[in-house]
Amino acid sequence: MAGSWGCPHEVDDRCTRVNNLPCNPGMKGCELAGRYRFADDSKNERYWEKRAREEQVAARDRSPGGT
Ligand code: SF4
Repeated sequence: MAGSWGCPHEVDDRCTRVNNLPCNPGMKGCELAGRYRFADDSKNERYWEKRAREEQVAARDRSPGGT
């Protein structure tokens, strides 16, 4: 996807990071996956996993005498 943001892995609209597949920001293996929330919720699995993990850590840190 040619856009204003230039992904270093994109060459001729292909993703050199994911098997030279057509660039599809947020797809599995994309470096953006898990770092941002996408309008297409099917791309957000990693994002929500990370959020859930961060929440668990935060909850543990908040608990008195937590380990
Ligand atoms: S799919 Fe992601 S990592 Fe691959 S070229 Fe596109 S933006 Fe970059």
